[in-house]
Amino acid sequence: MGRYRFEADITLDLQTVYLFGILVQLGVAVARICVQIFGKQYTGFTQWTLASVAMVAGFIAFALRSHTYPSLGLMISIPLIMSVAPLHLDGFLDFLNPDAKRLRRATLYLAVLAIAAFEIAYLTKARDPLILLLIFGSIDLFNSITLYVAIRSLRKDGLSAMWLIVACASASLLQHIARVGMLLFDPGAAPLFTTDQALAWSVIVATVQQMLTAIAQFTLSAQRVRADLEDAQSELEKLAWTDALTGLRNRRRFIEEARTHIDGARRHNRPLSLLMCDLDRFKSINDTFGHPVGDEVLRQVGHALTDIARLSDRVGRIGGEEFAILLTETDLAAAQLVAERFRCRIEAITPPAPGPDQITMSIGFATLHADDATIEFLMERADQALYRAKAAGRNCCMSAEPPSRLAPITKLLTQ
Ligand code: GH3
Ligand code: MG
Ligand code: MG
Repeated sequence: MGRYRFEADITLDLQTVYLFGILVQLGVAVARICVQIFGKQYTGFTQWTLASVAMVAGFIAFALRSHTYPSLGLMISIPLIMSVAPLHLDGFLDFLNPDAKRLRRATLYLAVLAIAAFEIAYLTKARDPLILLLIFGSIDLFNSITLYVAIRSLRKDGLSAMWLIVACASASLLQHIARVGMLLFDPGAAPLFTTDQALAWSVIVATVQQMLTAIAQFTLSAQRVRADLEDAQSELEKLAWTDALTGLRNRRRFIEEARTHIDGARRHNRPLSLLMCDLDRFKSINDTFGHPVGDEVLRQVGHALTDIARLSDRVGRIGGEEFAILLTETDLAAAQLVAERFRCRIEAITPPAPGPDQITMSIGFATLHADDATIEFLMERADQALYRAKAAGRNCCMSAEPPSRLAPITKLLTQ
């Protein structure tokens, strides 16, 4: 008797509940269709929208079924309702990984099989428990797979809305397991699921579940939209800051970063130096071997510079064949050594064939002074030194400081 106690407490009017269920499901379906038409499209949306439409259609067919046997209404409505969980799962798999076609196909085969089994059982006038087991069992199966996939994806995809899917699938699974358990252990329990009151409660539970699932799916797509936007934004930032040919910092980013480092060096009274580098007679490489070879040389130079730069060095391409390197924690004497190292590295490049015999680079270097008001001052002084390096015959390094402040490089190297 205890099992019917809830009837005594709340008596539900089945027709009103059907109407409630149909209206809410219709709302969910319309919301899904609107998102699909006007929102950002993701794979999986179509199946989710179809699931909603199938649910409304199933509800309507169920509410309007006639009581003649075999009832056409039941033969239409139950398969529609049974197709909802597999459609949700299929959409979910598609949303997470559009390439997982094999698993999705298997899901749909299983769904068709379950629905066919229901129709055969119904047409051959099988007993109620078998039919109910088929319905609940098949929904259970798809809920279990959804739950499994959602839990696995939680670790990988980092979409926290996946928790909502886990919660919805778990709730649905638990109530179906309870029903399947009752039917397995007490086949006489079938009427418990087919009285008007039980049906009314089932409609309410199914409606709430569909609503929660829709909320979970909307949240999931909103999170995906945000993640996509963030990805696009960082990609744009990367494009705006990076030189497309060499992958080095472009002029704007180099100068921005240099400003920050100069501020830091000044505040903490730390040394900082700048190398301005310019490839020698680069125009003639272009003129002799063509622009593509010139581009390849620029790429090679970019690689070579990053190759030997320290983690704290900032390398940028600040003009056509001009590069700049910011050296933090580096005084003039150390900058001279570093400049020489970069120059030798460029000299050692094996140029593309056909191409020039050798690639060389002239370097002007300067170290930060108290009276360098901005990065432009430091760059200007390094540029002047570079100009002198060109005038001195190219493929050499020149300091912006008077020679007296520098040890001869050969001496430094042999010390
Ligand atoms: P110098 O030794 O005095 O520096 O001579 P230079 O020929 O290197 O100097 P100049 O400034 O006359 O020539 C620079 C050339 O760099 C001219 C320009 O066509 C070329 N250049 C600039 N940007 C690119 C690029 O992105 N790709 C290629 N292939 N060439 C470029
Ligand atoms: Mg130049
Ligand atoms: Mg040049």
